[in-house]
Amino acid sequence: MKKNERIALTVTDCTLSGSGVGHADGMAVLVPATAVGDEITAHIVKVKKTYAFGKAVEIHRASPDRIVPDCAAFPRCGGCLFRHITYKAELRLKENQVRENLRRIGQYAGPVEPIVPSPKVDGYRNKAQYPLAASDGKVQIGFFAPRSHRVIDCRDCRLQPPSFRAVLDVFDTWIQTYHIPVYDEQTGHGLLRHIYIRQGEHTRQMLVCVVATKMKLPHADALCDALQAAEPQIKTVVLNVNPDDTNVILGRQCIPLRGDGTIEDVLCGLSVRLNALSFYQVNTLQAEAIYRKASQLAAPEGETVLDLYCGAGTIGLSMADRAKEIIGVEIIPEAVEDARYNAARNGIGNARFLCADAAEAAATLEGEGVRPGVVLVDPPRKGCAPELIGTILRFAPDRIVYVSCDSATLARDVALLQTGGYTVQTAAPFDMFPRTGHVETVCFLQRQKE
Ligand code: SAH
Repeated sequence: MKKNERIALTVTDCTLSGSGVGHADGMAVLVPATAVGDEITAHIVKVKKTYAFGKAVEIHRASPDRIVPDCAAFPRCGGCLFRHITYKAELRLKENQVRENLRRIGQYAGPVEPIVPSPKVDGYRNKAQYPLAASDGKVQIGFFAPRSHRVIDCRDCRLQPPSFRAVLDVFDTWIQTYHIPVYDEQTGHGLLRHIYIRQGEHTRQMLVCVVATKMKLPHADALCDALQAAEPQIKTVVLNVNPDDTNVILGRQCIPLRGDGTIEDVLCGLSVRLNALSFYQVNTLQAEAIYRKASQLAAPEGETVLDLYCGAGTIGLSMADRAKEIIGVEIIPEAVEDARYNAARNGIGNARFLCADAAEAAATLEGEGVRPGVVLVDPPRKGCAPELIGTILRFAPDRIVYVSCDSATLARDVALLQTGGYTVQTAAPFDMFPRTGHVETVCFLQRQKE
């Protein structure tokens, strides 16, 4: 196979990075935005040792999964991978991936529950972070193109609530009226980097955060007035200061420009306070379904529950009424502050929160003689640190509930837990991020009785 060659290809599989896969000349050929069952002509753009990348130049026979994309920015925008196939087909791919990862990496060949579809397929997100760029005197507000930092203007993103559009329009006018300089990643010049909006699913309260390079924003009052006039649900506007040459969106410092920098939402019947820096699951309705599942599986009965990677404390607090004590661990100080506030606000007296690295805090708790009956973990994509798995095994809890946003690292950790004497009882995929390549899994493990 050579670069620039054109070949006939039948797409037989699809990865969660959004490429259809077909086979030719003993090589796997990855073709973006194609679907299982497509028969295409592929233009080969890159050849590696065992696989190649192609581009679909003609579709001779379309997959029955195909639909007409309902977004003009697809697939130029890096936000969605699956606007060209039915939601049902997407769910099938996600469920298969969880099953395959658990089988291949996790050495677990037992049943995987049918994937739980998201209650909302569009408008499910409660948060969006829009990068900005300026070109030809115009402001681009949208999302990055796949694997690039080129901003694709996209203000009516279907994944967000429609209310976000009005906020972006206010920014556009404000930037043009006051000639606010937009940040340029190449030169490091300019002020405005991102617009970040968060809206409570149940309360509809909105937080608007302006990410900028400086501690002072010119014409901030005019901006806040215009924002609140356009969208009365905006309860707070904050300036986040990020002067660094970095891909990380948010800086460490938040300065409220209007309101106190926080909004409230309701999650599993608990009232939760959120600031711009605290982690909050972006799909509230599906997060509630996941928490209900986690809580039902963890089923604490007067036991100590260790909630590692707890964010604003939400999972642990949702089962506090049945536990002896909840101990939450989270590395971001602002999220820990929110977790403590949320416990107090909901009259929960049996929860305490440590601001620390999960592995270090677990080791400290072990030293203090804490013996949890249930351990919950909800780590970022890289999964749990190996030393944390070691500490969990020494805690020897009866039950472990692992909430994962990456089934490959989940499977890696499950393999270690199985070797350490645990058995997978339930593996339940949940689609938290429709139309993207991400899938969440709740995995429940129990200690084998000697
Ligand atoms: N359980 C929470 C948050 C899950 S997201 C919820 O459902 O809302 C993962 C969380 O882990 C984030 O809040 C992140 O800040 C935190 N985190 C990341 N690395 C960590 C570490 N090494 N130790 C403790 N917490 C960490």
